[in-house]
Amino acid sequence: MDFESDDRRILERPIKQKVKSAETTLYTPQKQMFPRTSETSANKKKLLRGGLAERLNDLQNRERSAISLWRHQCVSYQKTLSGRKSGVLIVKILELHEECTIQVAMCEHLAGLQANSPSQGEVPRTGLKVLFTKETARHLKGHPQDIVHIYPPWQMLIAPSGSCPVILNTYFCQKVVAKEDSKIIHEVHCWDTALPRRSITLAQRFRFRNLTNISPESQVMYSGLTTRRTDCTHGHEEAKQCFPAQAPLRDSLLDAVESQGAAPWSGVGVRVVVQRVYCLPYRYQQGGGSAAPPDSDPPRVRGCLLVQDAYGMFSEVHSEVTILKDQQLEGKSCSLMGMKVLQKATRGRTAGLFSLIDTLWPPVMPLKAPGHGQACEKVKNHMPPPSFCYILTAHPNVGQIDIIEEDPVSKLYQPPVPRFLKEILQTNDLSTRCSFYARVIYQRPQQREIWLMVTDATLQMQDENNSGLPKTIPVCVAPSCVLSQEVLEALTEAVSHSFFFRDTVRAQGHIVCVERSVLLLQKPRLGVDSGAHSCELTGPVKLNELVSVTQVNSICSIQGTVIGVDESTAFSWPTCDMCGNERLELSPGDRDTFSCGDCSRVVTSPLLRKHLQVFLDCPSRPHCTVKVKLSQTSISSLLRFAACEDGSYEVKSVLGKEVGLLNCFVESITTHPASCIGLEEIELLSAGRASSEHCRLP
Ligand SMILES: [Zn+2]
Repeated sequence: MDFESDDRRILERPIKQKVKSAETTLYTPQKQMFPRTSETSANKKKLLRGGLAERLNDLQNRERSAISLWRHQCVSYQKTLSGRKSGVLIVKILELHEECTIQVAMCEHLAGLQANSPSQGEVPRTGLKVLFTKETARHLKGHPQDIVHIYPPWQMLIAPSGSCPVILNTYFCQKVVAKEDSKIIHEVHCWDTALPRRSITLAQRFRFRNLTNISPESQVMYSGLTTRRTDCTHGHEEAKQCFPAQAPLRDSLLDAVESQGAAPWSGVGVRVVVQRVYCLPYRYQQGGGSAAPPDSDPPRVRGCLLVQDAYGMFSEVHSEVTILKDQQLEGKSCSLMGMKVLQKATRGRTAGLFSLIDTLWPPVMPLKAPGHGQACEKVKNHMPPPSFCYILTAHPNVGQIDIIEEDPVSKLYQPPVPRFLKEILQTNDLSTRCSFYARVIYQRPQQREIWLMVTDATLQMQDENNSGLPKTIPVCVAPSCVLSQEVLEALTEAVSHSFFFRDTVRAQGHIVCVERSVLLLQKPRLGVDSGAHSCELTGPVKLNELVSVTQVNSICSIQGTVIGVDESTAFSWPTCDMCGNERLELSPGDRDTFSCGDCSRVVTSPLLRKHLQVFLDCPSRPHCTVKVKLSQTSISSLLRFAACEDGSYEVKSVLGKEVGLLNCFVESITTHPASCIGLEEIELLSAGRASSEHCRLP
């Protein structure tokens, strides 16, 4: 299983479509998609055969990477057809139906489409057919009367028959006002009918007013709005405008991005709340590419902030600034200055980021909405979560992230809510992230990841037969999860530690720490009520017995009867009785003495270490070959009565011996050609400190 790359976790699209879209990526679009009048009759037959429908489907499913290429090629089309190079199209859905797996929305065009007519305001109200892919439609959850913003690179197709224009490539959509709120519909209607359609920017298009219940000091308007008045201000009180001495702070990330384009923001600041602080491996900067540094280099990481603005929009801010390393920014409102767009992130390509965003959705307080009047300013929580966001990077020279004290946007902060492991295992929702406190009782580095066996009091208190829940659960720490120095050091100790696992991902039978997950060492807090979730174990840890549902990379306990010994792998070797060094050298001239290079001395009485694998007959797994690599302690006790005079061991005297309970790590499970389980006996980490904390269970 690979959790490093977001790109590989494509869950939403069937494989067949994926292959199709990969094919189309290689081509620039066929010109037939935009038939000129003269070509129409020649191409007509071809299109009637269903080719158009098929191409349309392919086109709609085009990967995002193809869009930029295509966009380059289609600049001329766009200029003549849409009139605006980077406009946001605003439509109101009138009617919806599905055709050829594509959702077709008959829409009223509200703004963003400019006819090449010099007489502004004379453009007649036009109908548009907007096509949404299945994926986009599922996300948008559009209904009639919804207002939808469609961000570039949308495309317009004008059919030669003279029917209404068709809008394609609507990957970046946002529902702005949902229909449920009748008051909002009224307000928007007013806004719609009275506003002439002109070529104005998004910033000018929306007039933002702050929530009414916040302090006047935080009310900031755009400077660009002062000179421009729109026609729909009747009946609405003019917004109070104030301009701070420094660059005015905006409330909308989208707006800042739209107005600044790809250039570093100059003189633009946006107020946001910092929802999360974490580190990402450096390669994520390149959008998840394979630009990983060579293994010899220390892994390079960059600090990241997941921020949200008052409109609910998210951004991930990358920075090399060391200030991001600690958690002090989390939950605070900050002003972002001197940012630059690194990339546009979508659900399809950055699933990991959006699983974190979905965890923070819906917002804990009403969001602002673009528009006029009070009713438009608070949107209840029926908005779908965003389908895209921008990844920003702080410009090395002008990038600035400052805390704004007492700003209301910080009320949007949603800290990770720790849950008991039992609750986490009982919920079926795998789409959002989960946080929990747990004790690591065993750890095992695998090739690139670390497997941690964890438990908490809720799992340990499970009734053996009752719940079907395990007593411990494996946590896979993928290489993309950046561990702090403190955590790494704690994991090297042979002592059991408790950790706070933040924003982890649930998988089948285990939990995964991926990119944007954070592990924090849970320190003993004496005399402080540490809350219900610092759930310390009171007794010795119990493991599940080896049963049919036991999974590989988990731990279990076994007992059984020895029915065989793997003689081919049984051997012993001398080790130093002082330091445990296993690489002793034979002393020259004396065949029976060894010398230890580490202690620089002759080892006269070396300790013999043994490797022994036995086959067990386990009552809990009948009809199954169970092979166990035994620990030194178990080997010694098993061989106690089997030693012969010459120092060898009699296999016969081992057979039939009872062993167990042994704690084991499950190394392999095979079902074909025969049912076979490979185990290694392990020693659980010892509880490091006496716990004075007690657990309050629900
Ligand atoms: Zn030694």
